[in-house]
Amino acid sequence: MKIAQNRLDRGFVRYQEEFEAKALEVLRSGWYILGGEAEAFEREFAAYTGAGYCVGLASGLDALWLAFRVLGIGAGDEVIVQANTYIASVMGITINGAVPVFVEPDEYFNMDPGKIEEKITERTRAILVVHLYGQASDMASVVRLCKKYNLRLVEDCAQSHGACYDGKMTGTFGDIGCFSFYPSKNLGGFGDGGAIVTDDAQIAADMKMYRNYGSEKRYYNKVVGANSRLDELQAGLLRVRLSHIKELTQERRELAERYAGSLRNPSLMLPKVREHADSVWHQYVVSCERRQELIDYLNEKEIGTIIHYPIPPHLSEAYRSLGYRRGSFPVTEHYADTVLSLPMYNGMTREEQEYVIEALNRFQ
Ligand SMILES: *Cc1c(COP(=O)(O)O)cnc(C)c1O
Repeated sequence: MKIAQNRLDRGFVRYQEEFEAKALEVLRSGWYILGGEAEAFEREFAAYTGAGYCVGLASGLDALWLAFRVLGIGAGDEVIVQANTYIASVMGITINGAVPVFVEPDEYFNMDPGKIEEKITERTRAILVVHLYGQASDMASVVRLCKKYNLRLVEDCAQSHGACYDGKMTGTFGDIGCFSFYPSKNLGGFGDGGAIVTDDAQIAADMKMYRNYGSEKRYYNKVVGANSRLDELQAGLLRVRLSHIKELTQERRELAERYAGSLRNPSLMLPKVREHADSVWHQYVVSCERRQELIDYLNEKEIGTIIHYPIPPHLSEAYRSLGYRRGSFPVTEHYADTVLSLPMYNGMTREEQEYVIEALNRFQ
């Protein structure tokens, strides 16, 4: 049996008729940018997260860099971020000229709450929390530190649509929650897309201005903005997916539970879920000291896996100028050397998952 790490086609066929009807509706409408679909999506996504406002954007990276731009964070400022994130989190900071200050992750792959305070300086302006792999970070600690030091709080929720800490949805704890709707995300479109959520009406209004060339009124440009709009086709298709997000998340939870309940191989370390937090299982990430052997073994059985992520941002060529080297963040580097994302996708059959489980249990 051939099993891919992800199967986007499965996510399409399940609601195929609804997607096709919506696509035709938008195509026939004659209106493709900033119209009724985007507005409806923004309303529905804000309601889903519990935030006051949502502003649709063209990507998750745009959500991140525009968030710091709107908050006025740039050159000379420091932003605290976890070291083991996808590089887009860091680019969202550095595009604005601000400096990323890395914190090592904890055993849940999220920012280690006990290692944040020592990184705060008089130049620190914000904390960027990444709810990596779908699991909510320890928001109690992060919110407390932000209050104590008067810092802005931005959340990277590109992998955590619907994940909660203490029953409150990620993205709603601070000033701005940033989302991506890249096709492989838990709420994925059929192209690029993103959004921010916020409770602050001024932030929402500023974001609408920035996404549209810095203009609130046509041809009157207040700031140098971006072209970053969630188009009508993506917004319409995302509305279809959003209407099913509860069952899609539930399905991922069941897949994760089955992995957790059936995998019994001492060579694999299974993911742990933090108390008060839950996970929407964007990825099911195990760690293995003999990772390359495991990958080769699974490849032989035609089971696909992916490493999220093999090169941490501080060791990436793009960030050589920051001056870090191997050894700068040992926990992060150890994760980069040992983590492996197992097949996990909506529409994964029991038969497929059992094939993966059996193969993993036999690895020695
Ligand atoms: C996917 C992702 C992003 C970037 O989103 P895009 O829509 O691809 O720009 C940012 N941060 C994290 C953690 C991501 O997983």
